[in-house]
Amino acid sequence: MSLFGNDYSKKENWVMCPRCFYSGKIKCPSCGGTGLEYPSNSKSGPCSQCNGTGKIQCYNCAGFGKVKK
Ligand SMILES: [Zn+2]
Ligand SMILES: [Zn+2]
Repeated sequence: MSLFGNDYSKKENWVMCPRCFYSGKIKCPSCGGTGLEYPSNSKSGPCSQCNGTGKIQCYNCAGFGKVKK
């Protein structure tokens, strides 16, 4: 019957982000993950949305890779 430990049990529950699966990044919707501004054109410059990486920060978890339950 203890009333101690209220703060102790206050754990934050983080769960896997269903968008990026812990990676914190998702495929760039602009280039489809190719990193090219115009994926159909092989001479295309880098995608301005993701800077040619093909990935952008996950908007669901803000790049954490996990979300609070
Ligand atoms: Zn892109
Ligand atoms: Zn995410």
